[in-house]
Amino acid sequence: MEKTKCLIIGSGPAGYTAAIYTGRANIPTILYEGLQPGGQLTITTEIENFPGYPKGISGPEMMDDLRLQAERFGASMRSGIVTKADLSQRPFRITVDDGTEIEAETVIIATGASAKYLGLDDEKKYAGMGVSACATCDGFFYRKKVVAVVGGGDTACEEASYLAGLASKVYLIVRKNYLRASQIMQDRVMQNPKIEVLFEHNVTGLFGDNGVEGAHVVRRKGEADEQHYDIAIDGLFLAIGHNPNSEIFREYLDTDETGYILTQGASPATNVPGVYAAGDVADPRYRQAIVAAGSGCKAALEVEKFLAERES
Ligand code: NDP
Repeated sequence: MEKTKCLIIGSGPAGYTAAIYTGRANIPTILYEGLQPGGQLTITTEIENFPGYPKGISGPEMMDDLRLQAERFGASMRSGIVTKADLSQRPFRITVDDGTEIEAETVIIATGASAKYLGLDDEKKYAGMGVSACATCDGFFYRKKVVAVVGGGDTACEEASYLAGLASKVYLIVRKNYLRASQIMQDRVMQNPKIEVLFEHNVTGLFGDNGVEGAHVVRRKGEADEQHYDIAIDGLFLAIGHNPNSEIFREYLDTDETGYILTQGASPATNVPGVYAAGDVADPRYRQAIVAAGSGCKAALEVEKFLAERES
């Protein structure tokens, strides 16, 4: 069985940054890239808020650079999906979808979170061309345009408020007849003249020849007075929640009720010594590349300390 000092699971900014640091510390490192090599940023259009890129950079390009940087310091990049992780004792035993088994002294989980989508074919059709799940990432492209946000929780209200600062108008499309968000966020939304809340509405499709030009919506779906109509929008933002990719670790690791891995204070340490969680899989709040990269760095520094303490 292959053995390694550090196994990193996930290839977003958190995983690659961790690999840069462990590599530079001469810690033998294997990184499994997972289902979507490069992570969520590979499906965003342009990254303008990552420091160091004054002209912006495309998501895939930045992830290619990060990968090359990690490889330069010796991390072994592998394509494959980790399907099983036995974290009950050290060394930890990791199983990959091709059957490979690896024993690792330390593990950094950087598997990210996946935005939930409505499940419409049009979401795929217009991905990166008017459909987004991150207002902070893509809102800037909708200055003085009309957008819609789907969802009624804190994220949706926060994204609608953020977008209202850029766009000329924001529809907030809520399936129930109330918002689930905290009162303060609800007040902020209801008092914003640029936001129109469409309660009891669902999006059923999108249309447009050159990117999104509008959405088909239905009001009071399934009721006697059900009504179908179209709204003209330039962008649709999904804010109906995220799923942290932590399923295979939940048997061993403490998580919150949604499945986000709980870490200890400012450290990415989990409840299992030698196992760290970095990036969105442990971050329901910020979900930013720069924050993920920072936590990947912290996890690698913790791995270095953990190994040094046991080997000295
Ligand atoms: P939530 O689960 O709180 O809300 C999801 C929203 O999306 C709900 O309004 C839900 O509707 C709606 N929704 C879900 N599926 C669909 C669907 N298929 N079609 C239409 N609407 C749908 O997720 P959030 O991401 O908003 O928040 C996650 C957690 O993070 C919460 O605990 C939240 O409080 C917290 N958070 C806190 C912030 C802060 O404190 N500043 C900022 C952001 C998040 P329904 O109500 O009908 O189920």
